[in-house]
Amino acid sequence: MDTIDYKLDRPKRSALFSIAPIGLGTDSAESLESYTCRLAQAHFTTRHAVEQVVNGAGAPLYVDKSGPPRLDAPTEVAHQFGRRLAELTMRQDVLCLGLGRLAGRISTMHTLRKYRAWCGDCFCDARAASVPPHLPLVWSLADYHRCVKHGQVLETQCPCCNRQSVASNSWSWAIDHCPWCNKDLARRRQGATPSLPHLARRHDVEVDMFGAKVLAEFVTEISQISESPLACDASAVVHSAISRGLVRHSADFADRAGLSASTLHTVVKGTNNPSLVILMRIAAVADVSLAGMLYPQLAEVEVRGPPPQALREVGRLRQNRTHDWNVIRQGAANALASGQDVTLRKLARELMVDQSYLASRIGNLRSEIVQQGREKRKAKRSEQVKALAVEVTRARGALVAQSLAPSARQIGKFLQVEHTSPLMREAMKIASSQSSTLGTPPKTLSAHAEASH
Ligand SMILES: [Zn+2]
Ligand SMILES: [Zn+2]
Repeated sequence: MDTIDYKLDRPKRSALFSIAPIGLGTDSAESLESYTCRLAQAHFTTRHAVEQVVNGAGAPLYVDKSGPPRLDAPTEVAHQFGRRLAELTMRQDVLCLGLGRLAGRISTMHTLRKYRAWCGDCFCDARAASVPPHLPLVWSLADYHRCVKHGQVLETQCPCCNRQSVASNSWSWAIDHCPWCNKDLARRRQGATPSLPHLARRHDVEVDMFGAKVLAEFVTEISQISESPLACDASAVVHSAISRGLVRHSADFADRAGLSASTLHTVVKGTNNPSLVILMRIAAVADVSLAGMLYPQLAEVEVRGPPPQALREVGRLRQNRTHDWNVIRQGAANALASGQDVTLRKLARELMVDQSYLASRIGNLRSEIVQQGREKRKAKRSEQVKALAVEVTRARGALVAQSLAPSARQIGKFLQVEHTSPLMREAMKIASSQSSTLGTPPKTLSAHAEASH
């Protein structure tokens, strides 16, 4: 009888768990970063460890450690990362995640946000529907300001610690929690004071919702395609809009899209890769599908209607969140002069500004706040040490009264404090110097003190 080679029958196993990406083919298709984080969670490890596995599967990716890898960026390295992850998980649909396959077709500038953004209501809905927490790709797109489902401005600052977070290697908590303080971000904002982004965007609802709709459609369509697109023919799109009578000429086109004539010119000429924000505006004015501009097979014209008039006024390529730094500096100076306990964190919260941003913009006030904080902490500590020294003297007396040796270990045990802690060591030093300056042996002094109580 022939021996059977069982090796041949054994199905090939994936190196990493073969978990399914969430929401492909919908506007909440998850990002590659979100998928990598969830994969790390499934393996009970960190995102960094997963990246090391991916790196080990060939030439190292993301060698430059100046910033955390942007897995969803339209770059060749992100594309390679996605391909390797697809091999390691043995899942072809992983290739549909992120924007890596658009490398060389769209610019990396003005495409992704710098900080993570989220919609608390969407986290809530996912939880209610028992969908694992994930970050939809749309949330990381630079021009997606409002949730297309709930109409509210996406949050970027934690409601608890007020910090923003970039894609980070050390992200090991659940995705719907703040990576700094672990605050649950799945929360409906009811009756809460509007956040700074809400206030900044309160006049742009119409444009924001329109842009969100175009980008949500874009994600829905491209999350079903794993191939790289052809170069986008913006010239044909502009000319078709002119021939359909939507605009009079290319200068009119640029005006309606809120772009400068020179920006539109470079896109039409194809000298530079356009950013997603610019393509979105072109698709909006020409009333064509944004995904269809990159993938001709998706080019069926949808009935979206003309973009809102305000699109031409809201310059998306400019910094749209402006702070009055004179007012903020004055606020910081007043808080410092009031003599209250001021910290950068408290101040950032009060003035509704990002903490690190605030620190970089208030000049000398920053060092004053830090100095004041340091002095306050020092004073507080010396109070603590003094109070503990009194306790040590008392403990020593009590131990002697019980005819036990008043060693450091015994005193620590008596006070239920770790006797090797720096605070305890200092307190003991003070207590022993006090008893020696009094000139009386600690034994009798403490015994008297005990007796009198
Ligand atoms: Zn939402
Ligand atoms: Zn937080």
